[in-house]
Amino acid sequence: MELIQEIENKKSISILGSTGSIGKSTLDLISLNRSQYQIEVLSCFDNYKLLAEQAIKFKPKRVVLSDPKNYNELKKLLFGTNIEILSGRKSLIESASIPVDWVMSSIVGMAGLEPTISAVKQGTTVALANKECLVSAGNIFMSEVEKNSAILLPVDSEHNGIFQILNLNSGREVEKIILTASGGPFLNLNKDKFHDITPKEALAHPNWSMGPKISIDSATMMNKGLELIEAHYFFIEKNSNVKLDLIVHPQSIIHALVEFIDGSIILQMSTPDMKIPISYTLNWPCRASNSAKKIDLAMMDKLTFQDPDIEKFPAIKICKEVLYSDQGYGVALNAANEESVMAFLNGMIKFTDIISIIQNVLEKYKPEKSTCISEIIELDNISREITKKEISKCLM
Ligand code: NAD
Ligand code: MG
Repeated sequence: MELIQEIENKKSISILGSTGSIGKSTLDLISLNRSQYQIEVLSCFDNYKLLAEQAIKFKPKRVVLSDPKNYNELKKLLFGTNIEILSGRKSLIESASIPVDWVMSSIVGMAGLEPTISAVKQGTTVALANKECLVSAGNIFMSEVEKNSAILLPVDSEHNGIFQILNLNSGREVEKIILTASGGPFLNLNKDKFHDITPKEALAHPNWSMGPKISIDSATMMNKGLELIEAHYFFIEKNSNVKLDLIVHPQSIIHALVEFIDGSIILQMSTPDMKIPISYTLNWPCRASNSAKKIDLAMMDKLTFQDPDIEKFPAIKICKEVLYSDQGYGVALNAANEESVMAFLNGMIKFTDIISIIQNVLEKYKPEKSTCISEIIELDNISREITKKEISKCLM
C-alpha cells in the first residue's frame, strides 16, 4: 500500500536531449532528490554510451536514440535491464507524447520542434530550453500551447529571470523587459580581428558552460538576438506596449531586469549556472535547494552595463528585423544560422562568414508565411538548401 502511494506521489518526467549540457544539469538536479521522480523517457541524438550510463543510473522506462546507427550497441549496453529501447526520429516524437507531469525540452535546434510540440499536445508542463522552437514557429507553437492548456516554463536564464520577477509582480504595470547579455568571448576584441577567430576560441565562453551551437551563437551574439524573439513570444502579449530591450552585462550575474511604470526596476541575479533556472522550472511554483554556487556579495568586485555594439555584432539587428517580419523569416534565420554555425565548427567557413551568409540568405529568400508545422518544416528544408549554396561560395 505504502509502495503504491510512493509511486503515485512521484513526479513523472521525460528529458528530450538528456545527454546535452541542459539535459545533464537536469539529471544532476534529479539525482539530489532521486526518490521524488519517476523518469519515463530519456533521449539523445547519437551519444549512446552516455545515454546507457544515464539509463543505468536513473532507470527510465524508455530510452530513445534518435540516430538509429548505434541502436544495437545501445541494446548491448542495456542488456538485462527492463528498459524499452527505441531508435529513430518517429520514436522520439511518439515518446514525447507519453503522458508525464513534466517534460524538459532540451534538444538543440529545429530538431526539437516536433518532439516539443508532441509534448505540448499532452497538455502538460513543458520546461522549454529549446529557443529555436520559438524563433522558427513562435505563433504556431504558442497557439498549440494555448489550445492544449499546456504550461510553458522558460529555462533560458534571462527568460527564467523575467518569469521569476513577473510571478511576484503585476504584468499590467510593466513598461520594459530587459535581457542581459554577457557579450561573449569577443566583447572586447577589435572587429578587424574577427576573421581569424577559430572554433576553439569561439567555443570558450567566459562565464557559461554550454553545448557547441549555443556557444557559437553567444560568440556572434546571435544568441541574444534569438533570445529577443524568444522573449517576445514568452512575454509580450498582442497589442501590448511593453518594450523589449537588452543590455550587455559582462559578469553574467544579473540575468534579467523588469522596469515598471513607476520607474522601479526589479532584477533577478544568481551565479551563472543553468541548474538554478532549471531548478525553478522543475519545482515551480515552489523552490528547492540545489548544488549551484551561491553569490557571495561581499566578494563581488563590480557589476557593469553597456549598450550592445550593433555594428560589431549585427546579429542583434538582424533578429530585431526578423521579429517584425512574417514568421517565415524566423524559419530562414534559424536554418541559416544552424547551417552556418555547423559549417564554421567543421572548419569550412570563417567566423565572419556566419553572419554574412545569414544576411545573404535573408536578402535572397522571400519566405512564404507559414500556417502549420509541416509548412515550417518545408520552409526550414528550403532555407537550409539555400544556405548550403551560400556556404559553398565561402569554403576555405
Ligand atoms: P547540447 O548540444 O549540449 O545538447 C543537445 C541535446 O540534443 C543532446 O542530448 C543531443 O543528443 C540532442 N540532439 C542534438 N541533435 C538532435 C537531433 N537531431 N535529434 C534529436 N536529438 C538531438 O545543447 P545544450 O547546450 O544543452 O542546448 C540545448 C538547448 O537549450 C538549445 O536550444 C540551447 O539554445 C538551449 N539553451 C542552452 C543553455 C545552456 O547553458 N547550455 C542555456 C539556455 C538555453
Ligand atoms: Mg540565455
